[in-house]
Amino acid sequence: MSRVNLLGLTAAQLGDFFEAAGERRFRATQVLKWIHQRGELDFQAMSDLGRGLRDKLAASAEIRPPEVVSEQRSEDGTCKWLVRVVGGSCVETVYIPERGRGTLCISSQIGCALDCSFCATGKQGFNRDLSAAEIIGQLWIARRALGGFADDSEQRITNTVMMGMGEPLLNFDNVVAALRLMMDDNAYGLSKRRVTLSTAGVVPMLDRLGDVIDVSLAISLHAPNDALRDQLVPLNRKYPIASLLASARAYLRKLPDTRRRITIEYTLIDRVNDGAEHARELGELLRDTPCKINLIPFNSFSGASYRPVAPAALNRFRDILARQGYTVTVRTTRGDDIAAACGQLAGAVNDRTRRSERYRQRAGEGEQPVKMIGG
Ligand code: SAH
Repeated sequence: MSRVNLLGLTAAQLGDFFEAAGERRFRATQVLKWIHQRGELDFQAMSDLGRGLRDKLAASAEIRPPEVVSEQRSEDGTCKWLVRVVGGSCVETVYIPERGRGTLCISSQIGCALDCSFCATGKQGFNRDLSAAEIIGQLWIARRALGGFADDSEQRITNTVMMGMGEPLLNFDNVVAALRLMMDDNAYGLSKRRVTLSTAGVVPMLDRLGDVIDVSLAISLHAPNDALRDQLVPLNRKYPIASLLASARAYLRKLPDTRRRITIEYTLIDRVNDGAEHARELGELLRDTPCKINLIPFNSFSGASYRPVAPAALNRFRDILARQGYTVTVRTTRGDDIAAACGQLAGAVNDRTRRSERYRQRAGEGEQPVKMIGG
């Protein structure tokens, strides 16, 4: 009999689990706290559960986070974990400390089906969705590694971004379950403003998102018109910019708080989408959408056919939008020395991983190397 992995169950699902087992629903709260606040994996250590219940849980359930293959720490404090999931594939999770906050970049799928032309993940194709346990497991692992299950931990995770590998809205149910756990006061208790879902624009799913959850939204736009976006983000041919922005505005309208804004992500690629005319067109395009704009200098990876934006073009782009009244931020490169920056994640470490995977394959274990590219 296979055991249920309780790690990925939301409070409601855990309540159902206990009810189906003939137990009281409030057990869910106790067990959530043990798993996500104290990092406990052993039912026998859950001292506020009776002996009988502990034995019953040990026989029918488990708490199984993904396995950490390696951990690297950068001089600037950035940490990167290579995490192996069921089936042998790996994803990467990155922790980025900044003044007053710590952000964890989390993956939602192994590979990605969208094949954006500037993204390394797309080049490897789609493997499978991560389970809710594998998604929240990345946060569990990072929290444990940073000492966060102890009260006096200094390296806290205050923000999460679904900007790792994969398209979160194409793994809707598992991602929503993980987001719920991130915000649950009995689990990680993160504020909804500090939990961000980033999407390339799966419009029907975005239309559904606002009905089920309230998190911050980032849209990977990357182009100010459909002709250019069709090339960079092929999904645009199905859901063009006008429908995407309309859906994003509708999402904002569903939220109780009227002052929320969308983050528009725009990866700047040398002489592709970084011209003054693009900046002006973008400013026009976004006029009716409450947003701030996050510019991401393109990070190269092996096999990439684009070049990073020139510093002068980046500044010009930013200034044009700022003059039009937009809040514009530039995503700085972090974790350079451990190849943990956006777009670098597929590079050095994974070359190394790939080598060791080849090794293992030769040894007959036959595992699939997987790379991730983060935002
Ligand atoms: N599929 C979702 C989640 C991935 S987020 C989405 O598209 O939003 C990943 C972010 O990383 C994207 O916004 C993209 O801007 C950025 N990105 C991908 N490849 C990049 C690269 N080579 N250089 C810089 N940023 C990149």
